Amino acid sequence: MSARSIGRGRCPKCGREGSVVIKMVGGKEYVYVKHGRTWHYIGPLEKIDVNEILREPTTTLPLKETETLNIHGEKMNEETKSLNKTVVEVIALILVAVGTGILLLTIFASIILPYLVAFWSVSSVNIATGFSTMIEDTTKAYLIYSPIRSASISIQSDNAYFKILAVPLYTAMSILNATQSQELETHISPSDLRVKPIKTSDIQGLMQSFFGNYTSYDIQLDTNQALLVWPYKLQTKPTSLSFYTSRSLTGSEQPQPNSFQPLSMSIILISLAPRLILAVSLIIGGYLLYRWSKK
Ligand SMILES: [Zn+2]
Repeated sequence: MSARSIGRGRCPKCGREGSVVIKMVGGKEYVYVKHGRTWHYIGPLEKIDVNEILREPTTTLPLKETETLNIHGEKMNEETKSLNKTVVEVIALILVAVGTGILLLTIFASIILPYLVAFWSVSSVNIATGFSTMIEDTTKAYLIYSPIRSASISIQSDNAYFKILAVPLYTAMSILNATQSQELETHISPSDLRVKPIKTSDIQGLMQSFFGNYTSYDIQLDTNQALLVWPYKLQTKPTSLSFYTSRSLTGSEQPQPNSFQPLSMSIILISLAPRLILAVSLIIGGYLLYRWSKK
């Protein structure tokens, strides 16, 4: 015969508190509640719900070997479970940390990118380069073309007036092939705009078509166009003619003051959206995992 206490509890017989004891008699187990020296018999273990009686389970009294093994097994399970839970918690925290990192980087990028885009576009618009050439007489004209990409050109004269004529690029090419001018062609970056001095005698047939009376002229030149500039009236000799260019943005790149910023912002948001979604998923996933591990 063996007896073991499984904890404190309220006695269903007398209502007092006592130690809930299970006695083994002849291979059967019976439940008692012990109040000091008084034992109250409750009934066979299989017919009693000890959980209804128990208040505070304890393992202070010696337990049966099989039970001890069971409890030990459960303890092992508990340890394994808590270890697993710790691993899950660490994974959950890593997920949240990685998600937060990606989120912060993405937010940082979304703040920085517009400035980068703005800087890039501003620098590409504002880099104006050019050159000036001395004009001694009115026998020279300047053929301007931009075969690589369209470019905006600003032409300015100093104490001189010029006329202009826009021609197709193929006309410009035939003029270039025919010209007697030995003067070098000048390339102006960043558009690779080209300015070639030619002799007015090379373009006799076109001289009647020149028009205007400019000291300053701006034009957007496409790759299939060319511009002839002829300083026809010099107030001082020599004087100078200057050519400036800036890279021209094409298509959607065109900096239209009001539409440019939202456009680039939406592009940035679209490009960052996958990362945002990934970051948020990681954080939510990690949080759910963490909560699950705490259950
Ligand atoms: Zn009792």
